[in-house]
Amino acid sequence: MQAITFQQPYKVLVKTVPIPKILQDTDVIVKVCVSGLCGSDLHVYRGDEVGIDKDTIMGHEFMGIVNEIGSNVKDLKVGDRVLSPFSSCCGECFYCCRGITSRCEKGQLFGCLKNGYGIHGGQAEYVRVPFASSTLVKIPEGISDNTALLLCDVLCTGYFCAENGLNELAPQISYLKQYKLEYQKKDEYDDIVVVVVGCGPVGLMSIASAIYLGVKNIYSIDSIQERLEIAKEFGATPIHLIDENPIEKIKEITNGRGADIVLEAVGNLLSLDLSFKLLRTAGVLSSIGLNHSNTFPFNPNDGYNKNLKYISGRCPSVICDTLLQTSATTSRQQHAPSVLTRKTDDQK
Ligand SMILES: [Zn+2]
Ligand SMILES: [Zn+2]
Repeated sequence: MQAITFQQPYKVLVKTVPIPKILQDTDVIVKVCVSGLCGSDLHVYRGDEVGIDKDTIMGHEFMGIVNEIGSNVKDLKVGDRVLSPFSSCCGECFYCCRGITSRCEKGQLFGCLKNGYGIHGGQAEYVRVPFASSTLVKIPEGISDNTALLLCDVLCTGYFCAENGLNELAPQISYLKQYKLEYQKKDEYDDIVVVVVGCGPVGLMSIASAIYLGVKNIYSIDSIQERLEIAKEFGATPIHLIDENPIEKIKEITNGRGADIVLEAVGNLLSLDLSFKLLRTAGVLSSIGLNHSNTFPFNPNDGYNKNLKYISGRCPSVICDTLLQTSATTSRQQHAPSVLTRKTDDQK
């Protein structure tokens, strides 16, 4: 089969490689229909992610058809249409049992082999998926291949980022609701100002998710005009990173305070620094950008003085299952499907 393989930093190669075989009785071989190219692939490509074996098959976002199953695979059969989250999970360990499947004790990232340990990725014709019963998600009818692909990473990750931000702000909202009579008449998130830093695919999905979750005031920052225009279409007010002064602008809007929540979707020191500066006292910094820095741009004293709430981490794959289930049932979903699916067919 043909596959995109990592050779060395800044060099990937399309190669002919053997079709993967079932190794464990819980494995499935998926015939790939569509696979995605992610910002995180650049970390491998540029060598930021060190120690990747030569000839590792790239890519961690893929959907396809079950082609072969191990003898101990339950709930799946040959021909099923499935998507895979970007990491495998056993479904039984301490973390899986608490819904933190992205930190499964036996979990592995697709497209990440180091010293022979790990699993190949999805930018190939076939992929071996370990712990297939707990890793793969069946795709309901009516969801296109390209839409399903969004659930492998970017939409789930953007949703996780937005939901984390709102969850961390929740105690302040309930306090307001409890003691301020006039606030009780409002929708929960009427007055909240959310700023999204970075309008790549994950940033855009964070915007869509924040809207889906009920946020009305969303500002998006990027230096690429084309991305800002899509953010605007999604419902955010765009702010150009260079041509405008994002910190001044957000302060103007918030009586000098700063944003209630900043969703950071870039993953470097500059964007984390900007996010911190955009945030009001006791605001929430929800950071989802994969960051290979070994330090923070703010120090513990800055965090203390701001009553900072900082939340980060790898999105657990169970979210995509939940998103698929809730898509049919929640009332908020009324205007959400168009937001969550409109850009999928010409996904940037
Ligand atoms: Zn990805
Ligand atoms: Zn596990």
